[in-house]
Amino acid sequence: MNQYKKPLPEIQPYSETFWEGTKNRKLLVQHCNDCDSHIFYPRRECPECWSKNLDWVESSGKAIIYAFSITYEGVEEIFAEDLPIVLAWVDLPEGIRMQTNIIDCDPKNVEIGMQVQVIFKDVTDEITLPYFTPIQN
Ligand SMILES: [Zn+2]
Repeated sequence: MNQYKKPLPEIQPYSETFWEGTKNRKLLVQHCNDCDSHIFYPRRECPECWSKNLDWVESSGKAIIYAFSITYEGVEEIFAEDLPIVLAWVDLPEGIRMQTNIIDCDPKNVEIGMQVQVIFKDVTDEITLPYFTPIQN
């Protein structure tokens, strides 16, 4: 498990809760108690009103694909094992848009508007990364 060679997030004091959440299979989103905004990615202050009065809510982890692209070749060698790579923006019901990879599916079946859900992969002992995969009907 410690052989993961790809870039890893640098955990910051204001993002620590997010990464504890992913380890526990929860997708946590910041919420501003002053203006009621949901915030992603984690920040020190609300980007809408600059309040520091923030807490965390658990997202359902269900989202809709807003846009995507598929990479078939031309990546750095450490990413070659992941080809083809589906990079996507997904919209969550909390009103946030998240950049992610769509995994565990045939990239040919990925469509804009497709319903996806978060899944988690433990890539090191410390880091669990969130990805999305199509919801099986
Ligand atoms: Zn705010």
